[in-house]
This record gives sequence, structure tokens and C-alpha cells, in this order.
Amino acid sequence: MDGAANDQVVTLDLRSGQTIWERDARPFARPTLPPVSNLRTDVIVVGAGITGAFLAERFTREGRKVAILDRHMPRRASTAASTALLQWEIDAPMLELEGELGFEAAAAIYRRSVAAVRGIGHLAADLGNAADFSWRPTLFLAGNELGPADLREELRLRLKAGIEGEYLGPGDLAARFGFDREGALLHAGSAVAHPMNLANMLLSAALSRGATLLSPALVVDYDTTSQGVSVRTEAGLQVDGEILVLANGYELPPFVEARVHRITSTWAFATRPQAPGVLWPDEALVWEASEPYAYMRSTTDGRIVFGGEDEDIQDADRRDALLPEKIATLRGKLAALVPAADTTPDATWTGFFSETEDGLPLIGAVPGRPRTFAAFGYGGNGITFSAIAADMIARLAAGQDDPAREWFAVDRG
Ligand SMILES: Cc1cc2nc3c(=O)[nH]c(=O)nc-3n(C[C@H](O)[C@H](O)[C@H](O)COP(=O)(O)OP(=O)(O)OC[C@H]3O[C@@H](n4cnc5c(N)ncnc54)[C@H](O)[C@@H]3O)c2cc1C
Repeated sequence: MDGAANDQVVTLDLRSGQTIWERDARPFARPTLPPVSNLRTDVIVVGAGITGAFLAERFTREGRKVAILDRHMPRRASTAASTALLQWEIDAPMLELEGELGFEAAAAIYRRSVAAVRGIGHLAADLGNAADFSWRPTLFLAGNELGPADLREELRLRLKAGIEGEYLGPGDLAARFGFDREGALLHAGSAVAHPMNLANMLLSAALSRGATLLSPALVVDYDTTSQGVSVRTEAGLQVDGEILVLANGYELPPFVEARVHRITSTWAFATRPQAPGVLWPDEALVWEASEPYAYMRSTTDGRIVFGGEDEDIQDADRRDALLPEKIATLRGKLAALVPAADTTPDATWTGFFSETEDGLPLIGAVPGRPRTFAAFGYGGNGITFSAIAADMIARLAAGQDDPAREWFAVDRG
């Protein structure tokens, strides 16, 4: 794998190309920091991407002192590459989760996910929606992994879990959305946002409540004991705290032994703003039950963001070299789905991505590391998992249990 590694640190070449968000992201309002030598806080968060942002917002809302450290400028790593579909439908269909964990667990995970997206919506409303958050329905199209009969069974489970939705056959799907597929599930309750602005909104709220942000600050050493935690940066700064939360994204410190996860690569592009009438009804989020899969959303200025074509590649040079080929494939898929669309790319990008074998995130206590929690929200809906991570870790750190503790355990598998 690319990048550097020692026994405490892994760094990766996370992404390349230019994402659509970097062009118009709200500038990060960074407070002037007093020069710090060593710092004492309650909660140390490593990582100022969307996950660290949710954590910092949550802990400062609870009145805790938080220090956030990042080796980059905030929200410029994987978060800037995200296409930011905020879906409660996770990579693992309920059908699959039911088979592995039983119906009650599958239903609880899906309901938690629904609540997480709703919670992001409430936060956006409370914090002035500086995140371009907007509610959207989702259309989950039948594909080579789940056909019409599987989707009907998936819907049966979702309804049984109390999640409303409907199945559209090919006629309804074509009449209501203009898509030529064998069938689809239609649900409400998902959303989109501008990922960098969403992180900005949350980090700004945390900073306004007194959080300290140190960036760029590469954490090279983690020391965790039952008495307290401390991290040390490459520049020699030490931060001491009560709790350490790892929100390093895909750059897991090597001491986090996560057997069920692996790095893959993914590609995406944004079109120019489309002509009036080209975008589909309600600008639903569209994704498909296929391997390889594709997905799309629209932006506030009428562009289509289209992505997918994930491949098991861990080499950044190979990933980057495939960009033209992958974008050509994705353009073809967009043209097939929305024949009237102008598929000319205005921004193209690629990045590492991370998956787990069961489609669930790694959230919770880090085995063998006292007072240390991991917040690795993997998968196509990593941002939804980031919001869940903030909720779960706040509970676990307060000594409460959480129903998802075992399902999301970092050392499962
Ligand atoms: C192309 C693409 C499309 C995606 N689309 C979606 C989508 O539509 N919906 C969705 O929900 N998710 C999507 N995802 C996934 C989502 O983007 C990620 O789950 C999310 O951005 C991860 O955020 P994070 O904060 O955990 O990681 P990051 O944004 O990578 O932040 C982690 C931070 O930790 C810092 N860090 C790491 N190690 C250290 C260290 N030792 N010292 C200091 N700092 C450190 C890094 O510098 C980085 O800034 C997509 C991902 C990609 C690549």
C-alpha cells in the first residue's frame, strides 16, 4: 500500500483529481490559536474529517473539552472526495444482515441508520444549515445482485422493521421516474449535503464551544493507560486527556486490529449543470443492487454527481491511472440511465474507499487500549456511520452500553 507506516502511524495517498466540493467549499473559519506547548483536555479526537467533526460537535454539546488534531487541513482528506449521499440504506441489505445476525439485529441497525440521517437533518437545522443539507427519497434499482423478487423480500423485511417504502415494478418506475429497470424500492428519509460544508458546520460549532483544533499536526505516538491518554505530534507537542477517539479515516493506526476491513478504490465525476427538465423527479438518490454498482445524486446547482465502479485496488498509482477509463464507463452508465443528460465531466476524481466484510462500521472500544475508541464508519454510507459513531462513542465513554456494541466491534470476525 502507498504511503508511510511505523508501529503507530499509517499514511495513505487518499485521493486524486479535483472534487466538485473543493471549488466552492465555505472557507474554514479557523480561530487564531494561542501558541500551545502541552495541552490538557477531556477528549482527544484524531482526525478532522466528517467523523471527527461529528464527534467534536457531540462532545462539546455535552460540555466536554475537546482537542482535535489532523495531519491535513480539516475536511480535506476522504471527506472532500465523498459524494455525500446521506443514506440510511446501508451497503448490506436487510436480507443479508438478517441471515447473519437475525431479524431483530438487522431491524435495529436499519432503524438506527434512519434515526442517524434524521439526526443529521436536525443538526443542520439547529446549526443554520450551512451544509447544503436537503432531504431526498432513494430509489434502489434491481440489478445483478438483487433482482425484483429479492427487492420485494427486502421490502417485506423493511416494512416489518417499521420502515415505510414501496416497490415499483418496471412500468411504475418508468412512468414515475423515467428509468428503464426491472424494478426498484422507493423510500423517503435520506438526504444529500455538501460534505466539506457539513464538516465545516460541525467543526465550527465545536470551536465556538471552546474546542481546540491543531492542524496540520501528525500524531505519531499514542499512549493509553487506565489513568489517562496522551498523543504526541511529529512536532513534539503532547496532548493529554481522559479519552482518545480515533477518527483517522482509512489510515487506521496499526495497533487497531480490524480483521474485517480492507481498502478498495472508487471513482466519481460531476457533470456541468443540466438543462432544465433533465433531472429526474424529486432528484431522488439512485443506486443499484449490482456489482460493480453505480449511484447518482444531483447538486444544488443542478449537476449530476455519478460514481461507483469500485475495484479491489490498493495502489494509488494504479487507481489514478484508471481515472479516464473509469470515468468513460461511468459516463456510459449515466447516459443509459438518463439519456437526456449532458454527461460531459466538469470534475473527476478518485479515492481509496474502505469496506468491511459485513457492510457494518468499526465503532467502539479498541481492545487492549484503555480509554480508547475507534470511529471508522466504512462503506458507501460512511457519513451516516460517522453520525452513529458520535452517538455511540458518547454513550460508551459515559459508561453506558449500546445495542450495536457487538455488531460494530472493532475486533469482530
Ligand atoms: C469517492 C468517494 C465517494 C463517497 N461517497 C459517499 C457517499 O455518497 N455517502 C457517504 O456517506 N459516504 C461516502 N463516502 C465515504 C465517506 O466519504 C467517508 O466515510 C468519510 O469521508 C470518512 O470520513 P472520516 O472523517 O472518517 O475520514 P477522513 O475524511 O479521511 O478524515 C480522517 C482524517 O484523519 C487524519 N489523520 C489520519 N491519521 C492521522 C494522524 N496519525 N495524525 C493526525 N491526523 C490523522 C487525516 O488527515 C484525515 O483528515 C465516499 C468516499 C469516497 C472516497
